[in-house]
Order: sequence, then structure tokens, then C-alpha cells
Amino acid sequence: MSRQYNHLETKLIHAGEPEPLIGGAVSMPVFQSSTFEYTGASSYNDLKYIRLNNTPNHVALHQKLAALENADAALVTASGMAAISATILTLLSSGDHLLAQECLYGGTHDFFTKDLPKLGISFDFINGDDPDSWKGKIRPGTKAIYVETMTNPLLQVANLKEAAEFAKAHGIVSIIDNTFSTPINFRPPEWGFDLSLHSCTKYLNGHSDIVAGAVIGRTELIEQIIRKLNHLGGSLDPHACFLLHRGIKTLAVRMKYHNESALKIAQFLEACPAVTKVNYPGLESHPAHQRAKELFDGFSGMLSFELKGGVDAAEHFMQKITLPIVAPSLGGVETLITRPVTTSHASISPEDLKKLGISDSLIRLSVGIEATEDLIEDFEQAFKE
Ligand SMILES: *Cc1c(COP(=O)(O)O)cnc(C)c1O
Repeated sequence: MSRQYNHLETKLIHAGEPEPLIGGAVSMPVFQSSTFEYTGASSYNDLKYIRLNNTPNHVALHQKLAALENADAALVTASGMAAISATILTLLSSGDHLLAQECLYGGTHDFFTKDLPKLGISFDFINGDDPDSWKGKIRPGTKAIYVETMTNPLLQVANLKEAAEFAKAHGIVSIIDNTFSTPINFRPPEWGFDLSLHSCTKYLNGHSDIVAGAVIGRTELIEQIIRKLNHLGGSLDPHACFLLHRGIKTLAVRMKYHNESALKIAQFLEACPAVTKVNYPGLESHPAHQRAKELFDGFSGMLSFELKGGVDAAEHFMQKITLPIVAPSLGGVETLITRPVTTSHASISPEDLKKLGISDSLIRLSVGIEATEDLIEDFEQAFKE
């Protein structure tokens, strides 16, 4: 009898695992083979080859990822940006138009603003908080609406339910970058999204040792995106597949800890006299706290804050802390800290940063899985004098 289960924790361990186990191996072996023996495939896309994303390591991950978000299908890619670019280039071509939330991950913002116009694809930014304003921006060539579960680095939460409904009402595709929430905290297909994108580099792998991406959603769309990716070449190497497969198994225990620890740290920071503002959707002071509570099972490990004393105070603080590593990226087991204007948002113009409300003194924290008390003690000593 095949295994029966419904819970995410069990899916992380058992979904997509080969049955029977390959040679009895409890852990999925790495198939480090670029090509595989011909078995009569009638289409090029059915030949087994690493670039075609269909080796046993890919297939197991695809099934696991689809199961996690209760979706039909999934695809792993060479990076989060490979997932994003392949998806957009599948759905839109010259003459088409995209609606995108205005505060986007830096790489996505760059891809939309710098590359899409050269391909004849136009876009309009929309205010995620104001669904009434979206309709006025839709055009005959509009093909998709693109949002993020939580924005980086301000942790804003848009009207996500309305975004999926808006897409359905207008016959366009809804796409969400779910990297910050992960399937543990939010499962976009359950809210009507057609496609959910991930940088698996972050929480899904969780150990800051690979880059990888994923697209999860409706079979018919995923199949089109696989074809496009086969041409663009952004496939995930089997060894990176193996590491992602290993990392993802502990996602539920890690996320629950990230959720708890980040909330405690956000509450600690909010009570600190040296801190003027904390952005974390789990705080009651967050403008979309009620919405976040309705949508999410947890608020993730990302937060940002501002100190009295601006950039100098921020720099001083970042020099004095001892546990968090000053580095871009996020979602690993170790706590990382950064000033987004110097890293993830360095390519965005000062005017655009101002419009987005991202100040140069803003500090972003990716709370790892160290003891919360150790992190708080470290912050306390850094705030002294
Ligand atoms: C990191 C990140 C990406 C890009 O992912 P890579 O794996 O670095 O290509 C996209 N979206 C979000 C929200 C991210 O944090």
C-alpha cells in the first residue's frame, strides 16, 4: 500500500520519493549523468538530459514541490531569477503588457525595467494596497499580474486575495513570488494563484550553499515554462538538486523556528529606545497585520528596522553586533544582516528608493535558527553607548 498523509511536515519527507527506494537508498542518490539511455521517446523533450530538467533528481523535486503547495505541477530551475525570467518570457512576448507590484525584489525590478522594454514587453507598476486602481491600468495586451507575498525589505503585504481574483475576472495569469513565506506559511494555489515562484536559494534550501529556483502551479502553464527553460538553458544541476532535496526536508521545523524567533526579536526591537520603526507583519503595529493574519500561517524570519541616528547609527550597530553576518541574501540557518541600499537594492535609483519608502539607514535582518536569547543579548550589547 502506498503511504497516506496530508500534512506538510510529512510531505516534506515522503512526497516525490521514489517507490520502491532506489537500491534501498533512504536518501535520494545523485544521478550525475548528463544523458541517459534512449528508451524510445518520440519527442525531443522526453529524452532524459540534465538541461531538459527531467532526470530522476528533478522529477523527485518537482513532485515534492507541487505537493507542498497543493498544486498540480512544479519545475526546478538554476536560480530564482531563472524561474522568474523563464516564466515571464513564456507568458509574454512583444506587444504584451504586464502589471507588477511596485516594490519588487531588486533582480526582478531590474529585469522588468531594463530587459522587458527591449523585448517590446511593456509593464505598469500597481499599488498592491489599492485594488481599485488596478483596473484602470489593464490593457487589451495585458497577460499577467505579478506580486510578491511580502515585499523586500519593507515586508509589506499586498491585497493578495484580490490579486488572484482580479486575474480570474480579467482572464490573465496571476503570478506570485512566494520566496519570503514558503509553502509552510502561505500556499498561493489555495488562494487561486496560477503560478508561485521561489528562490529556493533562500528558505527552501535553507543552508546558504546553493542557488536554485522553482515554479509551482497549473500543469498546462508549467509545461509551457519547461519548454521555454529547455531553450533558455536554466536547468538545475543534479548535485544542486540533491542539496535542495536534502535541505527542504527540514523546512517545516526551520520555518516554525524562524517564525517564532523573528516575532520575539521584532517585539524586542519595537520596545528598544534606539529603534524608531520595525517592519514585521507579525507585529500589531504593522499596517497589514490583520490581512497577514488572515493569509499566513506564520510571518517568516524577515524583518527590517530603523535606528535613531540614521546611517551612522546603522553602520555603528552593524559593526558592533557579533552574531549576525553582514551579508546579502536570506533564509539560511545563520542570521544575516544588511543595509538594502548597499546590497539588494543597490541598482535602484535614489528617487525610486525614496518613492518606495526605502531609506539608506534601513537595516534588514534575516533571522536564523540560533538561540533567540543569544541574538537579543548581542543586539543589547550593540545598542549600549
Ligand atoms: C533572492 C530572491 C530572488 C532571486 O533568486 P536567486 O536565487 O538569487 O536568483 C527572487 N525573489 C526574491 C523575493 C528573492 O529573495
